[in-house]
Amino acid sequence: MNKLIGILGGTFDPIHYGHLRPALDIMQQAGLDEVRFIPNRKPPHRDAPRLNDQQRAELVQLAISDTPAFVLDRRELQRNGPSYMVDTLQSLKDDFPDDTLCLIMGMDAFNSLPQWHRWQSILGLCHIIVMTRPGVEIAHFALQKPVSTVVSDQPQSLLQRTFGQILLQSVTPLDISASQIRGYLSSGQSTQYLLPETVRDKLEQAYAE
Ligand code: ATP
Repeated sequence: MNKLIGILGGTFDPIHYGHLRPALDIMQQAGLDEVRFIPNRKPPHRDAPRLNDQQRAELVQLAISDTPAFVLDRRELQRNGPSYMVDTLQSLKDDFPDDTLCLIMGMDAFNSLPQWHRWQSILGLCHIIVMTRPGVEIAHFALQKPVSTVVSDQPQSLLQRTFGQILLQSVTPLDISASQIRGYLSSGQSTQYLLPETVRDKLEQAYAE
C-alpha cells in the first residue's frame, strides 16, 4: 500500500517540544506512516541560524531517536543554494513516487506561504497539513486558495486525492519557539522543560563553544 509521508521542514535552531508533540499529534490524527524532519540549509526568508547545519541536524536526530517513525532527512543540508521547499518536494517525489506527501507546517508558516518560491506549484506535489499554533490566527489569504484546492478539517480527506488538499489540524497548544529558547540561552535563563534533556545538554555545549 502507498504510504502517507509527513514532511516537517524548519530551521530547528534548535528543535523543541513545540515541534515534537504537534508532529506526533499530526502523525496519529492523520494516520501518517512517518514524519521526515528536514532542517533547511539556507533559510530563504530569515537570518542565518545561530547553530551550524551539523549541530541543528544532530539535535534533531537526538530529539527523535525514541520514535522510529520520525526520520531525519538531510537532503536540504546536502544541496547547494537556498532551501526552496518546492525543490525539496520534487526530490522527495523522485525518491517516493508511489507515496503521498503531506507537508506539515505551523499556522505562522502557512500564513507566509505566498512569499515562498513557486508556492502555487507546491500543492501540485503534496497535501498541506496546517497545525494550530498558540497566538496565531489563519490569515485571510488562506480563503483565497487556488481553485483546485480543498480545505478540510477531516483527516480522511487526505486519502481522497494524492495532492492538493489543505487540512487544518488542531494540535497540543505549546507556546514554545526556537527564538524564545535562543533568547533564554543568551540571557542565561533556564530552558528546562522546553525541549528534551538530551538536546538541552548538547545545546548548552554548543553555545559554550
Ligand atoms: P523561530 O522562533 O526561530 O522562528 P520556530 O520555533 O518557529 O523558530 P521553526 O524551525 O522555524 O521553529 O519551525 C518549523 C515548523 O514548525 C514551522 O512550520 C513552524 O510553524 C512549526 N512550529 C514551530 N513551533 C511550533 C509550535 N510551538 N506549535 C506549532 N507549530 C510550530
